[in-house]
Amino acid sequence: MIYLDNAATTPMRPEASAAMQPYLGDRFGNPSGIHAVSRRAKDAIEEARERIAAALGAAHPLEIVFTGGGTDADNLAVVGSALASGGGVVTTAVEHDAVLESARFVERLGHPVTIVGVDGDGRVDPAAIVAVVGDDTAVVSVMSANNETGVIQPGREVADALAAAAPGVLFHTDAVQAFASLPVTVEATGADMISVSAHKIGGPQGVGCLYVRDGVELEPVIHGGGQELGRRSGTHNVAGIVGFAAAVEAAVADRGRFRSVVGSARDRFESELASRVKVDVTGADTERLVSHAHLRFPGVRSETLLIRLDQAGIAAAAGAACHSGAQLTSHVMEAMGVPPDQGAEAVRFSFGWNDVTATAGAAATVVADVVETLQ
Ligand code: PLP
Repeated sequence: MIYLDNAATTPMRPEASAAMQPYLGDRFGNPSGIHAVSRRAKDAIEEARERIAAALGAAHPLEIVFTGGGTDADNLAVVGSALASGGGVVTTAVEHDAVLESARFVERLGHPVTIVGVDGDGRVDPAAIVAVVGDDTAVVSVMSANNETGVIQPGREVADALAAAAPGVLFHTDAVQAFASLPVTVEATGADMISVSAHKIGGPQGVGCLYVRDGVELEPVIHGGGQELGRRSGTHNVAGIVGFAAAVEAAVADRGRFRSVVGSARDRFESELASRVKVDVTGADTERLVSHAHLRFPGVRSETLLIRLDQAGIAAAAGAACHSGAQLTSHVMEAMGVPPDQGAEAVRFSFGWNDVTATAGAAATVVADVVETLQ
């Protein structure tokens, strides 16, 4: 199987699985207790917090709130900041559902929510964001890069425009997809809150964090024993958090190689395909993550292609995860103004940290062979 679905999840980096092993064995303590077994687990969590804070350039480790992954972090950022201030949410039409559904939830609670549209490449105009921010806005949430297309948003420009026009409004960025290849730091993003997920960067599933700038007030979304200074209750996933920290460090150290090696593998994949079959590349003329190839093979429906590719040994994804099975196009394609029949032809191939050089050429050959029979 050639695995080209790294935007969905990545294989674990060896650094992460090795770091986790002791915590899946005899280092099993609950970090909330007072005895030595618990203290050992607590120390591991605090060390992981320090390392992740350093990687993000946070001013203090306690600005890192461990969560059960990216969805959990996005909910805390969007719902938590809206509830804490009583204000509303401004976000974009191409966000992950973790942000969009959180915004719709706070809207049902009576808060004002504005969803800003994007251009044909899926990018938002910072001026359009600032234009709809008002006194009643608690938070603006703009993803660093899109999970379907890989298109990079002008996040820093949004942060700067907000700081100038509406300094009291919080800025959140979902950096779940961007983290592997872009310099995601507090400084670079200019964000008050940043969501990161372990399993997209070579760490385990079900763990992540929200960076929360010191002084930002959040109403918790998950209530219980008061872990994470009351911001996110629930017994810690100690092994997961330790693996997450190892994955963060490995991913940061690997970013330079990732951008060049994965980028050339992706480019080679796309150009070899273009030399054999008809293919449209989403965002080809704009800034996009080196890991993503969001392609449309005119005349070939994505569901048919994906089944044939699976049979041929290639793991890829539809442009969007089809939640109901009935969805033909995604909200991202729709927001970009892509006609439904074209949206239904979108396929995402996403490259990851391992094994790309050898597989790009082989994958292009198999995909072109399959597409040729369907086009
Ligand atoms: N945000 C983005 C941009 C994503 O791509 C994903 C995962 O698909 C998430 C959030 C959700 O992260 P998790 O799977 O860790 O809940």
